[in-house]
Amino acid sequence: MSPERPSESATRTRSQIASDIDLAIVGSGGAAFSAAIAARRADLRVVMIERGTVGGTCVNVGCIPSKALLAAAESRHRADGSRFPGVRTHGGPVDFAALIAGKDAIVETLRRQKYADIAARQGIEIVGRGQRAFPRRAGT
Ligand SMILES: Cc1cc2nc3c(=O)[nH]c(=O)nc-3n(C[C@H](O)[C@H](O)[C@H](O)COP(=O)(O)OP(=O)(O)OC[C@H]3O[C@@H](n4cnc5c(N)ncnc54)[C@H](O)[C@@H]3O)c2cc1C
Repeated sequence: MSPERPSESATRTRSQIASDIDLAIVGSGGAAFSAAIAARRADLRVVMIERGTVGGTCVNVGCIPSKALLAAAESRHRADGSRFPGVRTHGGPVDFAALIAGKDAIVETLRRQKYADIAARQGIEIVGRGQRAFPRRAGT
């Protein structure tokens, strides 16, 4: 499985996938992984259906990248003004492309280690492209 994109399960039909699983989870973020790991502990066969990037908001565009950039901004801010007499610091220019590449590398590593590799180890398949939804009940 690609660490970033879910597999498209091109060789398996929907009904083949459905007959192989006990639980289908829409999404592959933190909540989906909690549910999937709990289900695997109960020995259920699980599939995750993801329309975007494996790992969801936190690792890809939320907690992880935002905290990486905030920490970098704090580091740069501190470099411009030393709190201690006799200690001179100097910030210098920011290489924004390198900063973003570093942030992207962190995201990629954590997405692989904390999501894709765990799914593989736990026997959780991640499939799908495009939006999936549970059927609406009549009248909803
Ligand atoms: C900038 C930012 C910073 C944040 N910082 C923090 C923080 O420091 N600490 C913290 O606790 N929280 C933080 N959060 C919040 C945190 O990211 C979310 O609470 C958390 O990711 C929600 O997890 P989730 O699994 O519920 O949903 P998500 O991680 O959003 O996962 C949902 C997944 O489902 C997929 N999906 C949705 N609908 C469908 C569909 N119909 N078919 C197929 N796939 C679908 C989406 O593509 C997505 O991958 C932050 C959020 C943002 C935006």
